[in-house]
Amino acid sequence: MNQQRPGSIRNILVIGAGTMGRQIAMSAALAGYTATLHDISPAMLEAAEADLSGWAAGRVAKGKLDREDAGKALGRLSFSTDLETCAAGADFAIEAATERLDLKLGIFERLGRAAPAHAVLATNSSTLGSSKVAEVSGRPEQVCNMHFFNPALVMKCVEIVRHAKTSDATVETTLEVARRLGKEPVLIHREIPGFIANRLMVALQREALALAEAGIASIEDIDTTARSALGHPMGPFQLMDMVGLDVIDFMARAVYAETGDPADAPNAAVAGLVAERKLGRKSGAGFYEY
Ligand code: NAD
Repeated sequence: MNQQRPGSIRNILVIGAGTMGRQIAMSAALAGYTATLHDISPAMLEAAEADLSGWAAGRVAKGKLDREDAGKALGRLSFSTDLETCAAGADFAIEAATERLDLKLGIFERLGRAAPAHAVLATNSSTLGSSKVAEVSGRPEQVCNMHFFNPALVMKCVEIVRHAKTSDATVETTLEVARRLGKEPVLIHREIPGFIANRLMVALQREALALAEAGIASIEDIDTTARSALGHPMGPFQLMDMVGLDVIDFMARAVYAETGDPADAPNAAVAGLVAERKLGRKSGAGFYEY
């Protein structure tokens, strides 16, 4: 076992400068790690740098972040299109690139060759279990899912999912890194499509859709019940509209393709709205009109 002890992690590499990657990298820099953000697109790196500087300035202006701390965190953050060079200095890598297996396989193969022997290689993927990319890295025991929630600078939960070969040391290191980022990590002992949070969310949505389809109550009243009886900040239909019905449908299809369980089958009402391009808030209409 070449792996380092958790406390000795210094440099974190984040791959993919999109919605998730940029905020994960900033979380690492704020926690005192040296963080490198890599993307194949120079434009995405430029956009991420401007976005994070703006975010930090906004926090400072609101008195939520000390000016000096913000400056130090931004100073610990660097941006690069050269994966091999940044991987060579990384103790811990978090892959947050586009959700495509072929692309992630390429990244894990290159990380396996370029990163130091002790480095843990984690994927932020929501639908691909890390077992799918572990073998090509040549160090499957040092690979796991480290699943952040959007927006990653705000959301506390991080789901850490081990696959059959993930070592205890990798789990310990990943838990430790998540805690140092100020997160509240949960450990999932084996891969299951949707992990925990999405399975809980989908179970609630499934029941909500069944109740509405059976004419038991209106979507408004089902949402009201979730808010006022269960204390949820928004009801299941409001949440689906916020996430995007295309995303909900895509996730359901990915899970169903893997499990084949009729209970996981994509919902016809959701698919119908997607076919009409009613995707929720972002398109102006979904279950509700906006
Ligand atoms: P995004 O589309 O916002 O960003 C993806 C980035 O990956 C882009 O900047 C793209 O240029 C870059 N990229 C593509 N190919 C690359 C390569 N070969 N090397 C390096 N960079 C590459 O995507 P996102 O929403 O940030 O999602 C990224 C990952 O995070 C996905 O695996 C997704 O499942 C997961 N995730 C997303 C969310 C979410 O709410 N968006 C939440 C949790 C997890």
